[in-house]
Amino acid sequence: MTEQDDTLEVQSKMPHEKVATFMKAFGASLDPRMWVKLIDEEMSELSAETPGKAEHLKELCDVLYVSTGLALTAPEHIGMLLPVTERKDIVAQQAQVSTVLKENLEQYGDDVFMKAFNRVHKSNMSKLGLDGKPIHREDGKVLKGPNYRKPDLEDLF
Ligand SMILES: [Mg+2]
Repeated sequence: MTEQDDTLEVQSKMPHEKVATFMKAFGASLDPRMWVKLIDEEMSELSAETPGKAEHLKELCDVLYVSTGLALTAPEHIGMLLPVTERKDIVAQQAQVSTVLKENLEQYGDDVFMKAFNRVHKSNMSKLGLDGKPIHREDGKVLKGPNYRKPDLEDLF
């Protein structure tokens, strides 16, 4: 299968299943706070890009990827045990994420977005290190290995 493969087989898995596959393969962090931090990172990467460009679409996919990571690690009663101020910040972040996703999904259309998301997923799966093991940052974020392949989204426009 090539990186550009947008066939049904590739598209058939729901986003949360893809992210779960990635998290299992990479032994990704199950700490919701790590995902909250990654959402902040991806939201600022998104806001640095111009809507309607491939880089913007890529960052939008990243936002869905990491917010799915949070949803998978803290599905219910999110942050019930966190201090009130921290919980408020997370709730505010989630509201921002859903607004950004909703607005931009309408802009790009479901079909383009899902194709992009599939390619970003394939690209994320290429992050393993040369020894076939995941590489982690100190806080648990998965880092890119030498075989990492950037997703190419240009032809979706
Ligand atoms: Mg990004």
